[in-house]
Amino acid sequence: MFYTLHMLKKTSYLLILLIIVGCSPQSDFEKYKDHVKTLASDEFEGRAPGTPGGEKTKSYISNHFESLGLKSFGDSYLMPVTLTATTLDESKSSFNLAVDGEVMNIAYRSDVVYGTTRQLENVSFENSDLVFVGYGVNAPEYGWNDYKVDVRGKTVVMLINDPGFELQSTEFNGRAMTYYGRWTYKFEEAARQGAAGVLIIHETAPASYPWGVVENGWSGEQLNLTFKDKNIGRSALEGWITLDIAEKLFAKMNTSYDEMKSKALSKDFQPIPMSGMTLSSNMVNDLRETDSHNVVGYVEGSEAPEEFVLIMGHWDHMGVDTSIEGDQIYNGAVDNATGTAAVMHIAETFSKRSPKRSIAFIGLTAEESGLLGSAYMVEYPPFEYKNVIGGLNLDAFPAFGKAKDITIVGYGASELEAILNKYASAQGKYLAPDKSPEAGFFYRSDHINFAKKGIPMIYADPGIDLVNGGLERGLELAQKYTADAYHKPSDEVSDDWDWEGIEQDLGIFTNFIDDLANSGEYPNWYINSEFRAIRDESQNN
Ligand SMILES: [Zn+2]
Repeated sequence: MFYTLHMLKKTSYLLILLIIVGCSPQSDFEKYKDHVKTLASDEFEGRAPGTPGGEKTKSYISNHFESLGLKSFGDSYLMPVTLTATTLDESKSSFNLAVDGEVMNIAYRSDVVYGTTRQLENVSFENSDLVFVGYGVNAPEYGWNDYKVDVRGKTVVMLINDPGFELQSTEFNGRAMTYYGRWTYKFEEAARQGAAGVLIIHETAPASYPWGVVENGWSGEQLNLTFKDKNIGRSALEGWITLDIAEKLFAKMNTSYDEMKSKALSKDFQPIPMSGMTLSSNMVNDLRETDSHNVVGYVEGSEAPEEFVLIMGHWDHMGVDTSIEGDQIYNGAVDNATGTAAVMHIAETFSKRSPKRSIAFIGLTAEESGLLGSAYMVEYPPFEYKNVIGGLNLDAFPAFGKAKDITIVGYGASELEAILNKYASAQGKYLAPDKSPEAGFFYRSDHINFAKKGIPMIYADPGIDLVNGGLERGLELAQKYTADAYHKPSDEVSDDWDWEGIEQDLGIFTNFIDDLANSGEYPNWYINSEFRAIRDESQNN
């Protein structure tokens, strides 16, 4: 630009240029893109909590909040979250699955991932009998119980997702995943049943992700909240086995995976002992206490400062894995540099306005380790639940270009949808349910912890019914992302990103937040939502 100016002879041109340059320093949206690129750069090393890359990320966000003059709860934007990091010592630990006394050849990572969530240096058990428990579901409201026998001390083997995924009917909520389909539920329930070990059989379609995602997520250091009781209420061992290993086990029982699954698709299913099969395991852990932080700032409301609107995104991702070949940095560009940058960007917008209600901007930690930052925040909230008007969770924006829709994960849940719809439709867009409710994304991001406390939450992403190429192209790109980049080092910013859809939707999200912060309304969950009763109760107290 400087060079060009020198070449210009006519001062009038110069003046016009100066005016243009003066009016548009860096455009607002360019700043957003810069945030995404910075957070997803190799320098930030995949933003894992408790690492130098994680520290850089927290400083980057909190410096931004400081430059905007946001207020903080306490004397820092960094709100501590106490975590325990557990690393299974692979060389000292054993996983011996025996068939008729003979130990099978099973390789850690490629065939099985396992560990313990008990926060102890050594956890072991011997000769626990294997029992196949179908989906491992105990759901009274669906009249479904896969635990018809006592499994105390046993190792339960089960399918991923819930029966509705395979049943071609509306039974068990159809294909849309219920919480019973999530692995978190399966481990919780098995512990309640007293099982010593829990093994989930991985299958790509019902899990909605390939084995590689399980392998990456479950090997190496595992973070959890620090539990006073060392989490001893949980089963000793929790893990996953590949479909291939399951087939081998079932073959020894003269049956097959398909046959066992079809048996599991009935309310009358009876748990099937896997006779002659036992599991013994000795797990040696390195335990490390670590602090991470949620990064939180807010703009104080001018009329109702005690009332809050929340906008959140998780800043963490999966860090670096030095055990893999080639690119070792999990940049997490889509997941979730895009959402974190959006929180920072929208914070900047509101730092220049004076909303009636307070708006909190929340960068959450340890989402990838099991929604831990949000779990901690709802345990130790800096505001009263009943005063939180509602919130928006931003996690993983696709950069596929302008879309005709906005994706609502868990569509049909609350009146927040009607408010967002006002601003979406003003731009000719419609709200659409996410295209794979069977994947249970509603249970896979931070808003769920706030929802469980009754706070109306909406989880929105730029849509995939693309202006250029429609739903067909959008779905194709989304599937390609899940297969090639999701939770892999290749989740990086690339030149073929088309940012226009994100730009448009940031505007819509901003209008939505503005409405919540200024309207004086109290949106609630829809009457059929499982969170409505919790909200009504908290409002009445
Ligand atoms: Zn995410």
